[in-house]
Amino acid sequence: MGAFTATTEHPVGDVGPVAADGLPVRGAAPARPRPSAAPVASDAVLAVDIGGTKMEAGVVDAAGRIVERSRTATPSSTDPDEVFDALSTIVSEVLDRTTVVPTTCGVGCGGPMAPGGETVSPLNIPGWRGFPLRARLADLVGLPVSVDNDAKALALGEGWLGAARGHGDYLAMVVSTGVGGGIVLDGRLLDGTGGNAGHIGHVVVEPDGRACACGGRGCLEAEVSGTAIAAVTGRPAAEADLAMRTRCGTLVGRAVASVANLLDLQLAVVAGSVALGYGQDFFGAAQDEIELRCGLEFARPTRILPGGLGADGPLTGAAAVARHRTAVGEYGVR
Ligand SMILES: [Zn+2]
Repeated sequence: MGAFTATTEHPVGDVGPVAADGLPVRGAAPARPRPSAAPVASDAVLAVDIGGTKMEAGVVDAAGRIVERSRTATPSSTDPDEVFDALSTIVSEVLDRTTVVPTTCGVGCGGPMAPGGETVSPLNIPGWRGFPLRARLADLVGLPVSVDNDAKALALGEGWLGAARGHGDYLAMVVSTGVGGGIVLDGRLLDGTGGNAGHIGHVVVEPDGRACACGGRGCLEAEVSGTAIAAVTGRPAAEADLAMRTRCGTLVGRAVASVANLLDLQLAVVAGSVALGYGQDFFGAAQDEIELRCGLEFARPTRILPGGLGADGPLTGAAAVARHRTAVGEYGVR
């Protein structure tokens, strides 16, 4: 594809304040009148979601509408360039088609990764080990690129437009093939030393439980991930019986209760095929367990809710990564 650069009307690094995600805007410039020259939509984001099964790219406008999107299966190749070429194809399709011109790029990607996504090594993408994703994408699209863990991206997206909208303290989780999470506290997405804060999948919920891939035992991920459920039942996770559905809810509620007690947050938002697929069997049991375990007055109001973004969550979250990084002035090095 040809070079794709920010318009001169809206130079890179100047996209104005972006407070709509409810997160603090530090050092953002005041709003300026938008030039009338078309096509211009300076607050739009090129959003990219990279998972082990599929990759998706889209353009998300300032109101959070996905105005263009394209997806493809993630190659299982061990050749890093073959994986990146597949990503390049859908990114190029989206940029060729869109009439809304993005000025930043946000990425949600499976972990682990180095801080800022300078290198990524997604567990489910064997072709990428220490792959320089941020720099390769920046070269491809000519935009400032912000990369974060996909569960942290979802946390930002849920705060912007989903079930955590208007909340400054919450946990967002994904319970699907694996278990991931992100935490917003005092209105800020927590990063931690290596950028892994909120990784709730390895909180222990059954001290003598199943062995976990991390080397531990009884981790939440080892008990309630789709992979774990299938291993225990011998059937796809979607076919689990009522006892398994409520057990998963109970264990997730147990982990959420510990987080609520620890961090003084009162909301957990949970997305992912296991949680959403099990529905009220899962969420009812989780809420019961939270009420059993959150006895302190500040924690008693804690609630667990289904995510509010549905199938748009990954792209909305990826867009929120760019908006958030813009707001806090952390573009990374280009
Ligand atoms: Zn573990």
